[in-house]
Amino acid sequence: MIQMNGVSKVYSNGSVALSDINVQIDKGEFVFVVGPSGAGKSTFIKLVFREELPTQGDLVVNGRNVGDLEPQEVPYLRRGLGIVFQDYRLLPNRTAYENVAFAMQVVESSHREIQKRVPHVLDLVGLRQKARHYPTQMSGGEQQRIAIARAIVNNPVIVIADEPTGNLDPETSWEIMKIFDRINQNGTTIVMATHDKTVVDGMRKRVIAIEKSRIVRDEAKGVYGYED
Ligand code: ADP
Ligand code: ADP
Repeated sequence: MIQMNGVSKVYSNGSVALSDINVQIDKGEFVFVVGPSGAGKSTFIKLVFREELPTQGDLVVNGRNVGDLEPQEVPYLRRGLGIVFQDYRLLPNRTAYENVAFAMQVVESSHREIQKRVPHVLDLVGLRQKARHYPTQMSGGEQQRIAIARAIVNNPVIVIADEPTGNLDPETSWEIMKIFDRINQNGTTIVMATHDKTVVDGMRKRVIAIEKSRIVRDEAKGVYGYED
């Protein structure tokens, strides 16, 4: 699903974010990416959805060599991905329903498909009753659930998430993780950068630890491994 061979990323100001990363993530895996601030976690996530390009090495995501994609091919890569951010990034002037429907309109789904699918994914995240609410009328946890519904509405093969519980209290974070777990049990690959020790230690999934731009640990059923 995701393969990195000798991948490095050096930003134009000289910051080395990733050095010689070699990793393979298979279909259906659930992977946490952990490590101290500035280690390279966000860059790892950004490379996968081609927000940033590797400066060296090969990166294949869902069968596409990300470094070789023409700009017009990028939307096809992203169609196979669902992306969830710490700050939700919902459209403020659209309801929960419209935020999720919008992702289907972008890929030109029919009106009929949208009407059938959106209520279904709102059910999956347990928020069908809030379909008509605007983001400002919802709690952080509810907004994140809508963001997750939007991320999965087009049936992506990979969901990537950058600190999705970073703004949420522990109880809400755990609710959010149960949703990710359910999505993963449906066969969707999940790659999540996180600082949330409780979540990582509670889930016991594969853990990839990055420190100073390098992978220092990669373990199945791993733990967070830091004290913060
Ligand atoms: P993390 O997510 O683990 O905190 P990042 O991937 O954000 O780490 O950052 C890794 C390194 O790359 C840090 O030294 C950071 O300062 C640097 N960095 C991140 N983004 C940029 C950028 N857009 N321009 C320059 N340097 C960056
Ligand atoms: P039904 O409409 O009969 O309830 P399903 O629940 O199996 O059907 O899901 C309908 C579609 O949504 C299928 O294509 C399925 O792969 C997809 N799907 C269901 N749950 C998820 C999920 N958690 N994440 C991603 N896709 C999902």
